[in-house]
Amino acid sequence: MTRRAGLLLLALLLTACTEGDTAQTARPPATTAPAPATAPPTSTTTALPAATVAGCPAVPARAQPDPARPKYMLRADVHPVEGTVDGQLKVVFTPDLDTDRLVFRLWPNGPKSGPAAASLETGPVTIGDRPVTSTLDDATTLVVRSGGTFRAGRPLEVAMTWQLRMSGPANDRVSKNGDSMRLGSFFPILPWEPGVGWATDAAVGGFAESSTAPTADFDLTVVLPDGFNVLASGAPDPARPGHFIAAGMRDVALSVGRFDTVSAVAMAPQPVQVTVGVQKGVVDTETPKAYLDRVVASLEDFGKRFGPYPWPAFTMAITPELGGGIEYPGHVMQGQNTFGVTSHEVGHQWFYGLVGNDQGRDPWLDEGLATWAAARFEGRLDRVKARVIPPAVRHRVGEPMSFWADKSQLYDDGVYTQGAQALAALGDPALVDCALRVYVAVNAYRIARQPDLVRAAAAVFPDAAATLASYGVKG
Ligand SMILES: [Zn+2]
Repeated sequence: MTRRAGLLLLALLLTACTEGDTAQTARPPATTAPAPATAPPTSTTTALPAATVAGCPAVPARAQPDPARPKYMLRADVHPVEGTVDGQLKVVFTPDLDTDRLVFRLWPNGPKSGPAAASLETGPVTIGDRPVTSTLDDATTLVVRSGGTFRAGRPLEVAMTWQLRMSGPANDRVSKNGDSMRLGSFFPILPWEPGVGWATDAAVGGFAESSTAPTADFDLTVVLPDGFNVLASGAPDPARPGHFIAAGMRDVALSVGRFDTVSAVAMAPQPVQVTVGVQKGVVDTETPKAYLDRVVASLEDFGKRFGPYPWPAFTMAITPELGGGIEYPGHVMQGQNTFGVTSHEVGHQWFYGLVGNDQGRDPWLDEGLATWAAARFEGRLDRVKARVIPPAVRHRVGEPMSFWADKSQLYDDGVYTQGAQALAALGDPALVDCALRVYVAVNAYRIARQPDLVRAAAAVFPDAAATLASYGVKG
């Protein structure tokens, strides 16, 4: 996400505003159809050709999603006027380690920087139609037990109903703003890290409420009253209106409202159906078309630099009362007048979306890398490099959210800017992109850790470990 609501961003936004196009019309209809909704995640089964930049090694074939990944059936009956969502969740989950419990995170119940605006409650839980015990360890952590051990490799079909209530607007990922709603990190989700177990980091308000979730497949059904639209993660299923297929995604999110939408196809490098919607009545100095063009251009740039965008569709919704952007796989939420953060949020499609990370443990892995991606795209790398990092957080880029929780004023410099500076210190920016392309290929659909990035960088820069360590990267 972006939390850069300061003067620097304001300056960027004001500059960007002059680039807006007043035309509200959509681009001509796409000439290339998006991939079928049922397509699996984009696969690269052979090694990518070596990038042309000297010193960039052949990039390995992109890793593929775990065949035993969770399969979610998620239904959301959305009531925008009432500010409620009635949900049903069924997930087939196959742990790869024995475990004595199942955990679901209920992120809307986490601490908020502003007034509490949402709550998520769950109904009785079943496993294979058999009722089981569920308890709240804390407001965001639902624990399910059967009295025995859930064995590695044995699929479990877990089901529950849930209800989300929103009381009003919040500068956050779950919010109701008049006729529009943001629904991010809004349903019970399994925080399983394959090979490790349950991720139960404490919720840290206002920072990183989506934390760890494994790559999964989602069959998402959204039911809306007449007159409302939805922009969501995943590809709309043409055979089933209101259904979205989100294959190989760590999470899904959606925005509901009365949107003016524009669409185009990005070549990143496969065709990606891009749709941008702006809530009607939002007073905005840019138009949907300006955001659309920036999304398409950044998707295409990042597809070249970091490897293909992995899904057939991307959507962005602009809704009120949000100071920046919030990323989800295949869907980005932005507030009004946030043109300047668009490429940063698109960068998260690779760094957080495709290559996952625990946002509580390793926040710089997505924020620092998205900042790098956008800085080169926007031609502002020199400005990022010149920024002076406050001494209190210098050399601490690799710290977890528990470190940053009482340093919110230093978080942008310490994690976003310093993260991009650490990458810049490696050497030639084109070779840094090469290293990130290796990182993406090796860690796609997985939850990466800081040593994974150090290893990828060391494949290109022999002294990468020492360089990154001097910024506080934990190799
Ligand atoms: Zn971000």
